[in-house]
Amino acid sequence: MGIMSERLLRDFKLRSTPNRQEILHLFLLRNYALSHGDIEKEIENNLDRVTVYRTLKTFLDRGLIHKVLDDEGSLKYALCKEACTTAGHHHDHVHFKCVQCGQTNCLNVEVPNVRLPKGYRATEANLLIQGVCERCSD
Ligand SMILES: [Zn+2]
Ligand SMILES: [Zn+2]
Ligand SMILES: [Zn+2]
Repeated sequence: MGIMSERLLRDFKLRSTPNRQEILHLFLLRNYALSHGDIEKEIENNLDRVTVYRTLKTFLDRGLIHKVLDDEGSLKYALCKEACTTAGHHHDHVHFKCVQCGQTNCLNVEVPNVRLPKGYRATEANLLIQGVCERCSD
């Protein structure tokens, strides 16, 4: 499996197992967010749901991937590009869902600061914009 996934696992102090390598490799290969189902479908040697679930949970906890709230309440995951750690994730970027190809991407655009009513305190912000992506609009 890829050298990149090996190195990432090492950087994030995760034991390198074939399953972890394979799932991470898939994230590196695709540059868009993946759902649980996408991962199960794309990985050939049928990983069971529990293994995929556990691996994603580990990656999330370590700051390797983050949750992407897709439309219709479905959940996807994408690699973190910034310095996220076990202590927490540090990004508030916009996600963009293409209505043509169905891919959801992390955009290098910050979620605008929203003024909340008195007494409300935000801990997390998710912004999903839908439309046509760069590739589909060509
Ligand atoms: Zn992150
Ligand atoms: Zn598209
Ligand atoms: Zn993202």
